[in-house]
Amino acid sequence: MTASNPPARKKIRATEQMARIMSDYFYGLNEAATTGSRKVAWCTSVGPAELLRAMGFAVHFPENHGAMLGSTRYSTDLIPEANAVGYSPDICSYLTSDIGSYLKKSTPLSKAYPGIASVPKPDVLVYNTNQCRDVQDWFNWYIREGSSRSRRSASPGRKNVVDVSEGLVDDVARQIEALVPTLEAVAGNRLDIDHVRETVALSRRCSRLLRHDVLQTARNRPTPMTTCSDGTIHME
Ligand code: SF4
Repeated sequence: MTASNPPARKKIRATEQMARIMSDYFYGLNEAATTGSRKVAWCTSVGPAELLRAMGFAVHFPENHGAMLGSTRYSTDLIPEANAVGYSPDICSYLTSDIGSYLKKSTPLSKAYPGIASVPKPDVLVYNTNQCRDVQDWFNWYIREGSSRSRRSASPGRKNVVDVSEGLVDDVARQIEALVPTLEAVAGNRLDIDHVRETVALSRRCSRLLRHDVLQTARNRPTPMTTCSDGTIHME
């Protein structure tokens, strides 16, 4: 090895397995949307995906699609489409590229996964303004355009919260509880609280593994994670 000849980068061994998981996920969503085998919910990245999963929904994340549009460079052509219908160029590019994708009927999913014609059509949209309020304008666009029902959970903005008080937790819990009747009506089945507990426990375990067992490995020298995508794309 010389300075001009850096060592070959090794792939993370789990990459192929993760690619299979993502492929199964997108084909599963497509099957749900095209055959009606399961109801499809669109959900913001901060949830409440656990509730939806526990109720049997196939869950699509528009922010995930927005990231895909950026990483595949589709967004360059798509963002102006959203700007043309009134969305500012200064707001979240995941939002504008996803709406542009809808307007232009163009998605990298079709290229990455042959047989998938479009993003899965939603039966219900559920958003949570905990992460930012842009999601409200994003999801409401689809409500106005179409067919599906929407529910929201409006957590207090994080920037305004100094202490997470019991009152705030109770407020958010009640808003999430209020989603249940609509979701039961769309799903056609009753909420099983044990299934919710199991799903939340899995989600918590996953978050802890990512934070403590995976991302912490980047502190080692040499680090097993060398790129942004090692730490972000692979966490999906
Ligand atoms: S800015 Fe808001 S809408 Fe955009 S990706 Fe981030 S959390 Fe989602």
